[in-house]
Amino acid sequence: MRDETISVSRIEVDLAGYDSLTVPIHRASTIRYHDASSFAARFERDADGYVYGLYGTPTHRYLEKKITELEGGARTVLVPSGQAGITCAILSVVAAGESVLIPDTAYGPVRDFAKHELAALGIEAVFYDPIDLKALERLIGPRTRLVWTESPGSVTLEMQDIPAIVSMAHAKGALVGCDNTWASPVNFKPIAHGADIVVEALSKHLSGHSDLILGSITTREESLGLKLKSSLGRLGIGTSPDDCALVARGIETLAIRLRRSGDTGIKIAKWLADHPCVDSVIHPALPGNPGHEIWKRDFQGSCGVFTFTLVDRYANQAFAAMDALELISIGASWGGTKSLIAPTSVRALRTVRPWTGPEYLFRLNIGLEHPDDLKDDLNRFFAALASERTPSLMRVAT
Ligand SMILES: *Cc1c(COP(=O)(O)O)cnc(C)c1O
Repeated sequence: MRDETISVSRIEVDLAGYDSLTVPIHRASTIRYHDASSFAARFERDADGYVYGLYGTPTHRYLEKKITELEGGARTVLVPSGQAGITCAILSVVAAGESVLIPDTAYGPVRDFAKHELAALGIEAVFYDPIDLKALERLIGPRTRLVWTESPGSVTLEMQDIPAIVSMAHAKGALVGCDNTWASPVNFKPIAHGADIVVEALSKHLSGHSDLILGSITTREESLGLKLKSSLGRLGIGTSPDDCALVARGIETLAIRLRRSGDTGIKIAKWLADHPCVDSVIHPALPGNPGHEIWKRDFQGSCGVFTFTLVDRYANQAFAAMDALELISIGASWGGTKSLIAPTSVRALRTVRPWTGPEYLFRLNIGLEHPDDLKDDLNRFFAALASERTPSLMRVAT
């Protein structure tokens, strides 16, 4: 053979005696078939068989199985983002002329998806108060196919009573889906509490290092998982094995990362609650917070993601004072090793349960830094906040 041919031809490497401790990364578009008849019959392979890179490689199967086991479900599909997890989950069960109930506190972009794509498809999206069970029960009608939940809710962290929601939805023939990103399967298992579908934004805690975007959908029933898998294939939605391997690696330290960031988060939350500049701290794991009893009853632990607000008098200086932070970065997303702060306004995102607090909420993602270094950094912020010389850059709409 000439060099060109040698360069591109596949050679066999002896794998005898090789059994890696780590997650193998299999990159592939093309799968080789050993004869023409197995190629001709490739679409008859079972759902976990290998056909084409789009439908997954052994690296995808590894992550799917790992997440299925952690969630206690029947099957997991991987999608390019947490947002895709939510949208594909909704589209897999709700058809034109039917309706989906969505909590007012759902991840923000879900509202836009409802307004644009669901509306265009003739799927009705009804937003509901995440903690008003009586009102929710009244909204579940004959056309309701799915009750979406997210507990705790985005930014304002309202805890939902998932077992109660499941029993009222199932009694009326609707399924329940849960965005479990805040808790992760380590701290809450929606399927064990009756949910039919669980979505994780793998971009957050499970990958754990803020370096990729990926999502998962796990189903209680094999049949819904299979339906999703074939639908995603037809839609051409696939994921990268490299990203899957990074998530699989992240999962290995998920429990200890969450324990550490959760513990540090509680320390910081308690400290903030006593700070004169702080108006309120919203953290379901703090005793006295609304939803704390549900958290204690259903969840195994916490994480470092929570929210605080400032007393009115300091609100105008907040944006400028954030320049004083040296350790905590300003940014959205969360679940990584590094602490983040995100000034967030939710007023426009609440249509059923109006937000009556201050315009800006400060969502923290506490990472793996030492708690005292984080306090030092927040003290720099508070010092700047209290200083008269801080120019007022933020205009609060009233
Ligand atoms: C970030 C997030 C998502 C979306 O995940 P992406 O991978 O960023 O699309 C969904 N739900 C919750 C609760 C999130 O925090």
